[in-house]
Parts: sequence; structure tokens; C-alpha cells
Amino acid sequence: MSNISHLPTPDTNGSVAERLFRSLVGDSSEVVTIGQLVRILEASGLRRDDRRLRSTWNNIDQTDAAQPIDADEFERILAPEESVLVERALSGHLILPDFADFRTRLTEIFERCREDRSGAVASYIPQLARVEPDKFGLGVCSVDGQQFSLGDDADRYCVQSTCKPMLYALANELHGRETVHRHVGREPSGRSFNELTLSHAGLPHNPMINAGAIMSASLIKPGEPLAERFDYIVGKWRDMSGGTAPGFDNAVFLSEKATADRNFALAYFMRENGAFAPGTDLMETLDFYFQCCSLRLDVRQMSVIAATLANGGVCPLTNERVLGAESVRNCLSLMYSCGMYDFSGEFAFTVGIPAKSGVSGALMLVIPGVCGIALWSPRLDRCGNSVRGVRFAEELAQTFAFHSYASMIEDASLIDPTASQSARRADVSGHACAAAASGDVGELRRLVAMGADLSQPDYDGRTALHLAACEGQVNALRFLLGLGFAAEPRDRWGNTPLDDAKREGRKPIVELLSGLAGKSGTGKVKRSRKAA
Ligand code: GLU
Repeated sequence: MSNISHLPTPDTNGSVAERLFRSLVGDSSEVVTIGQLVRILEASGLRRDDRRLRSTWNNIDQTDAAQPIDADEFERILAPEESVLVERALSGHLILPDFADFRTRLTEIFERCREDRSGAVASYIPQLARVEPDKFGLGVCSVDGQQFSLGDDADRYCVQSTCKPMLYALANELHGRETVHRHVGREPSGRSFNELTLSHAGLPHNPMINAGAIMSASLIKPGEPLAERFDYIVGKWRDMSGGTAPGFDNAVFLSEKATADRNFALAYFMRENGAFAPGTDLMETLDFYFQCCSLRLDVRQMSVIAATLANGGVCPLTNERVLGAESVRNCLSLMYSCGMYDFSGEFAFTVGIPAKSGVSGALMLVIPGVCGIALWSPRLDRCGNSVRGVRFAEELAQTFAFHSYASMIEDASLIDPTASQSARRADVSGHACAAAASGDVGELRRLVAMGADLSQPDYDGRTALHLAACEGQVNALRFLLGLGFAAEPRDRWGNTPLDDAKREGRKPIVELLSGLAGKSGTGKVKRSRKAA
């Protein structure tokens, strides 16, 4: 038996829970089960361990997924303080409304990249040389906390240089931009990440290369014991990743320290040039920097960190502000121009996304306002970037309108995953029908200029031509016919614009369309001077 009788009448607004329950009824002609809600939440990327939905998931777990439920039961399951997030998921108002489609497309790119086995793992320390080269993980988290991951997503890897943006952002938080940039520049160096070189001002070129990251590290709570500084950093990584603390690879730390002649040289060179703040302890600074490079996490955690940057410093899973917006802006600007070693300019040009890579094969991509993406694949190219990571980023930018300047060009093949595709289609047809019905030729013209297809029917097969004919809008009709559309589209009831015009007694329209009736193909009319 259908439980439709439990529903509130459709014309009452009802509570949020009632509305959401009704939307689930639409999903099934028979009954509503909690399994439906679970499927929709999971397809939206809201995971079972998402603490923003803790009570709702708990209630769900205590309910038989296949048992029909009624509106009251649904209201009981939906924790009131969590209903806003559920509502956004069910109504397609999360930043990636069709998360399942996004996921499918990223999975296809991931699988294609998996085939690429070129490159070689870093070998300057045994701990990296020993990593299984074929490892490959992907983590994605949107600014609304929609998540998914693929491949070796539970393996923890060393963050290496992907700690550099965090060190810089935290130095900004603690001192502000002016002070930080008294000690480090913001120009791409055009040199290798560990080259023994400083800018004309005797400063490291930028915070994304070794010298600059050592400088950022020196600015983080320098007056405090190293243990406190390390705790501070670990706490920040934990907060940015939504509550899971990173691990620490002591073997990597010891190896880094034992093979760090270049980093020591850089530090001494900077000291010789007076680049450090007075009182900086060089050995502690270097230890601290090596420790930060030796933090370990998996792509799921790293994607949440990238999403926190994409979200202006607020962690999407906790809604806690971890970084100030200005620190994030500064950090993303430098990731954009300097984040990919000697490939940074090329990457900014072709991919156009703020990114940071690390010698462990880590790559973090930040799509501001949309999502964070973390990749891990240890084989590196000659610039030191993950081969698969770079390829993934390139294909990503060829698939989605994620390049910072993607909006400059009209490329219909690029997908904007933040807009529901069917909503966009419906918007265009609805908009065109409304303009045609009111005879607003100016608006129709603007829609054409935007590249909209005005022949698009709405769900009922009604087109702008039908509406213009029905409402007797001669000028709008002429305009539409002039675009070359078929003059006899049929709506779902089989009616053409001419049928509508006859039914409504629109004589001039009937005359205009009768002249075209039976002429198949385009409805292009020869316009007399007068009519034009
Ligand atoms: N620990 C490495 C170093 O400072 C970081 C290398 C990297 O990921 O670029 O040499």
C-alpha cells in the first residue's frame, strides 16, 4: 500500500522534514525507505563518518533500511540541527550538485592516468627510494564537505614539499604579510627548488622552494621550545583536515637530516645575507623544517586540507576557521605561480589551478570555491613532479572549467560541475519561453548572444515559438523564425505553434504560420523590409 496518505498536502509549505520526505516519495511510487535517503546522501558525497551528520547517521543506523517509513518517522530520524545540510543535499544545493557525475568523470581520468608508468621515484633517501612505485591514490573534498577517494587512499605518505604552503600560510597568520615578506620574496625563482641562490635583496625567492620554506619555518613560534612548535603545526594540520592528526615518519626525518647538506648550505647562506629574523636558531629551524616534511597523511586527509584552502581557510567538515582569508589568498597566489618546481609557469598556463607538489609524489590542487584534490603517485618526472599527478591535473583542466581564466573563452565542451546540467537546460528553455510569451525580443536577443539554444523545448515539449504563437507575440515570433528554427515543433500533446495560434484566435500569427505550414525544415521566413 502506498504511504502517500501520510503526506502533507502539496500546497502547504510544511516543515523542512516534511518537504524532504515528499521529495523522497517522488523517488518511489510505492513507499519511502530510509535506504533511499542513504543512497542520496552517499551519492551526494556526504560520508558516514561526516560529523556534521553524526546524529542523523546514528538514527539511520538504528533503522531498518528496507522498512517503509512515514513522515513522522522521517522527522524523527532527521536531527533538526543537521537538517539544513540534508536539505542542501536533497535539493541539489551543495557546491557540486551532481556529485555522482563528477565522481564518474574523475574516476575515468584516474583510470587513464593509472596506465602511465613513466618516471622514477625519488632516491635521495632510502625511505623514499623504497616506496612502491605503482601506488596511486586520489582524494577529493568539496567546499561543502562532499568527499570521495580512489586507489591507495588509505596509505599514508610523506607530505614533503606540500608542507610549504602550510608553513607560509601559518607564518602569515602569526605575523602578517608585511613582516613575512621582509624575510622571503614572492617571485618565481626560475631555478631548481633547492638551488643555492637568493634574490637581489638577499632573500629566498619565494616560500614554495626550500630556502623560502626554511624561512617560513623559522618564523613559526621561534621563541618556543621545538616540541611546542611541532605540536602547534600538528594541531593546525589536524584542524585543517577536519580532526584527524597527521602521522610522523621518524625514519624520513632522520634521513632528511642526515642528507641535508644543501638545506644546511641554504640556511647558512641566508644567515650570511641577514635574511633571518634576529635570534633565529638555525639548527632548530632546520630540524623543524625536516619534521614538517616528514608528516604523513593519506589523500583523504590531504584533500580536506586542500578543500580548507579552497574554502578560504574554513574547514568544510567542521566549519572551523583555521586560517584567515588573507593568509589563504596569499598562499594560493604563490602556489599558483611557484608551486610546481621548474614547471610552475607551464602548469599555471595550461592547468591554471593553484597547486603544490612534493618529492614523495604528492600533489595538492586547490580549486577556489569548489574543491580540494589530493593525489599521490611516487614516480616523478624530471622536474620532480608526480607524473600521474601532473597528467591528472592536465586532463582535469581539459574536462572542467577549472582554469582560473576558463570563463574568458566560450568552450561549451568544458563542464562547470557547480551547476546542475539539467537545471541549466531548464533555465534556458524556461527563460526563452517567458521572454517569448511576453514579446520581449530584447531578452531573446540577449539569450542568443549568450549562446543559448532557443529551440530547446521545456519538459512538455513547449518551445519559445509555441509561447510566442499562443500569446500573439508577432515580433517575437518573427525573431524566432528568423533564427531558422523548424516552424512546426510539436509539444507533448502533439500541438504545433500554428495549432496554438488557431486555438487562441491569434489571426496575424495564424496567417504568418499558415504560409509556412507544410514546409519542412527550417522556418526561415523571407522578411519584407517592413517586417524586418
Ligand atoms: N625534504 C625535501 C627537501 O627539503 C623536500 C623536497 C621536496 O619535496 O621538494 O629537500
